[in-house]
Amino acid sequence: MSFSDESRLHYQTVIDGIKAEGVFKQERYIHAPQSSEIEVEFPAGSPIRRCINMCSNNYLGLSSHPEVLAAARKGLEERGYGMSSVRFICGTQDIHRELENRLTTFLGTEDTVLFPSCMDANAGFFEACLTEQDVMIADRLVHASIVDGMRLCKAVRDTFKHSDMDHLEQKLQEHHDKHFRMIITDGVFSMDGDTAKLAEIVSLAERYNAMVFVDDSHATGFIGKTGRGTQEHAGVLGKIDVITTTLGKALGGASGGCVSGRRELVEMCRQRARPYLFSNSVAPVIVAGALKVLDLISGTTERRDKLEWNARYWRGLLQNAGFDLRQGDTPIVPVMLYDAKLAQEFARDLFAEGVYAIGFFFPVVAKGQARIRTQLSAAHEKHQLDFALEAFVKIGKKHRILGVDKGEFVTQSA
Ligand SMILES: *Cc1c(COP(=O)(O)O)cnc(C)c1O
Repeated sequence: MSFSDESRLHYQTVIDGIKAEGVFKQERYIHAPQSSEIEVEFPAGSPIRRCINMCSNNYLGLSSHPEVLAAARKGLEERGYGMSSVRFICGTQDIHRELENRLTTFLGTEDTVLFPSCMDANAGFFEACLTEQDVMIADRLVHASIVDGMRLCKAVRDTFKHSDMDHLEQKLQEHHDKHFRMIITDGVFSMDGDTAKLAEIVSLAERYNAMVFVDDSHATGFIGKTGRGTQEHAGVLGKIDVITTTLGKALGGASGGCVSGRRELVEMCRQRARPYLFSNSVAPVIVAGALKVLDLISGTTERRDKLEWNARYWRGLLQNAGFDLRQGDTPIVPVMLYDAKLAQEFARDLFAEGVYAIGFFFPVVAKGQARIRTQLSAAHEKHQLDFALEAFVKIGKKHRILGVDKGEFVTQSA
């Protein structure tokens, strides 16, 4: 018996430590499809509560869209349930290639390769494309999956202070002797909801002969006037060398990711990226659903426009009520509470009022930067946001964190 009493005691002590720190994560069981209103069991065994969902990545409200479900069902009937293979053995159907081509057109790139997830795309890309002679220069707040991908790659690793262009320039100068320089950033940073300064990044890349890598998971489908992502928002369409993104957020929310960009880099991923070579194909039912999602969002900007309206409306409501928000113009609206314990209590109290939002604290965000991160969806209706605001105000008053309680001037809610 190798899992001895001593082993068990060791792990139990670590888990107890996580609980003592107040950062133990507990799952909430949702008894309904993903939507703007869901039925949640929390804690386990409690009665199910109907609540407004303010924390999903279902940005365009397509996770349970009837046309996506119908397309997925048709895909299931016509192409089966599973591929039982990785892509290069017998895991590529016509619809996998069709989806890659459609993503290439949508993103305005040269080619695209699907991965089981964007985590896998990021885990595989760097090792496949860069060597010891190159350098990766990443924003300090990039997603964990990029950090992991960089760890797997032998190129030199460096970082620049979050969105600090002077610091990035300094790093590009420092690494002038490397063969290739690659600037690495998220398009939208998920904890603060701010966007990367892509116009400046592209111009620095041109000046210092560097490639640009953008993970647009929190942007594809809705940021930019036609939803092409942060590259459209920043006016640099076609100038990003590598875009990675997910099908697991706005694009239907099931799973799957991709690397899209320069033809040769995408081909290197097909030849060398380990999650592409050694992990199963995206299931046909998801591929068929994602094709429908691209139909729906290529034909009209109606959904991303509604999302933009919802985000602006919600931000205005919170601001007028006196909440301390992180500034930004994305559907990620963080309500700053700073204290981890307060963030947890606030989320629990909101839940009791029928609003589902989660507190984020260290190590997900910096110490002393705890917050409730709210996320908008095109599926939200105005009355749901008004309802959620009432709960936020009630709980805000309870915890005495509203501007008005601190004696500050607060404008009247419109
Ligand atoms: C969500 C997210 C991922 C992971 O996407 P999956 O497809 O779920 O693996 C990667 N990068 C960023 C920036 C993300 O927000």
